[in-house]
Amino acid sequence: MKIVFIGAGNAALVASERLARGGVECEVFEKNAYENLSYDWHDDINPDAWEAYGLPAPKEGTHFTKRNWTFIPPSESSETTLNLPEDVLDWSTERRLLAQQYADRAKDVVNFHFETPVDSLIIEDGKVKGVVVKGEKVYADLVVDNSGALSKFRASLPKEWKITPEPDGTEIFVAYRAFHKKATGVEEPKSTNRAYLKHLGEDGISWSILDPAGTVNVLIGRQGKLSKETFKRAYQALKASNPIIGDEVVRGGIECIIPIRFPLLRMVGDGYVAIGDSAFMTIPMIGSGIENSMKAGVELADVILKKQSVKKEDLWEYEVTYFEKRGAEHLGVDILKRWLLGAKPADIDWLFGKKVVDEKNMADAATGHLIILSFGDLLVKATRGITRLPLLLKMAGMLSKTKKVARLGRNIPKVYDEKAIDAWAHKVEKLIYG
Ligand SMILES: Cc1cc2nc3c(=O)[nH]c(=O)nc-3n(C[C@H](O)[C@H](O)[C@H](O)COP(=O)(O)OP(=O)(O)OC[C@H]3O[C@@H](n4cnc5c(N)ncnc54)[C@H](O)[C@@H]3O)c2cc1C
Repeated sequence: MKIVFIGAGNAALVASERLARGGVECEVFEKNAYENLSYDWHDDINPDAWEAYGLPAPKEGTHFTKRNWTFIPPSESSETTLNLPEDVLDWSTERRLLAQQYADRAKDVVNFHFETPVDSLIIEDGKVKGVVVKGEKVYADLVVDNSGALSKFRASLPKEWKITPEPDGTEIFVAYRAFHKKATGVEEPKSTNRAYLKHLGEDGISWSILDPAGTVNVLIGRQGKLSKETFKRAYQALKASNPIIGDEVVRGGIECIIPIRFPLLRMVGDGYVAIGDSAFMTIPMIGSGIENSMKAGVELADVILKKQSVKKEDLWEYEVTYFEKRGAEHLGVDILKRWLLGAKPADIDWLFGKKVVDEKNMADAATGHLIILSFGDLLVKATRGITRLPLLLKMAGMLSKTKKVARLGRNIPKVYDEKAIDAWAHKVEKLIYG
């Protein structure tokens, strides 16, 4: 059996090694050089990925424990600081070093081709049969698409497979990301990890994080697009609230894409499977996807090794596993995110100011879990909030929809049956978009 991976993302690095050690021939095509793998900065990963999935932890000195988030609503009139104990906090991990560590482990069994972009898929007789690289056809039994949220390969698949070709404009964040030099002579902030929700009342998030290393991690993300004017306005406002941000950029300083939508409802086809950001495996609220991608890599490899097959009917178990373990909750978190982004800034201010949304709720949403609150709970929390009854009613309706869609997500058809999958996907989409 031969499997080709498009992209040496987190998922492919994990899955290819596991499959190859199980006797499967694996080739990974990555457009970037080994030296430029992933990103030259650190991001947060829940250590559950190595603890529960037996993956190697990042090497000593390449990570530090992330500090608790402080969430700030649009008017910046209140702050909600999480209080998670150190042992459940993410590890801020050097991404390039981790990707290289995983590639180094795999290279004795996996055939890596760096600086080798895949041009297109070979699709013959309605099946994916391999990839085209530098004009050459490379045939395989399965192509694993790990090329990211804007995968051009999804859109080239036969339409009747009904695999969503691309995210719509509201389903990605376009983000500026950079590490700035810390400004000198200014007071250190009391809370270091400051995330601005609906920053300036706009559809997006900005953050300023003072790292233990002494740099300031800056992100300005907006739904759909980030114009120069929006960036300039947001950067100036962020700097005014966080004078610790110096103007000199020491790492990053690029624009990138973060998917913030529910997972693909059809991840598999004949000879094709999507994984990681290509299958939108991020937490819709904040776009974290490293842990999910690595776990999905283990799950995909285990299904293939167990079944010794790459038929879509067999690969379906991989998607079922994803939805049962994480994807179903992410459907609900997507509804919550759409609601928050669509809400009036003044309503968000009120919900945070009154602690109707509190640190426990934000901790749940940020880690990909549902906010469990009934209308009664909301009323109790907003004791003086009777004037905002319509808002509380709308919020209760939205939260009940998040539970419903998560239940539906867990009820994904357990065997591959086109009609049952169509009916299931239709119901999910109706709840999310309807
Ligand atoms: C600014 C920013 C901050 C983030 N912060 C966090 C965070 O703190 N925690 C977290 O969990 N997640 C975070 N994420 C999300 C995280 O980066 C992704 O969810 C994760 O990297 C997805 O992994 P993946 O396995 O899908 O592969 P990816 O990392 O998406 O890798 C895809 C690979 O495919 C390659 N590729 C693309 N096209 C081709 C082609 N045609 N041929 C060959 N190769 C190709 C690319 O070069 C790349 O190496 C952040 C993302 C961004 C942009």
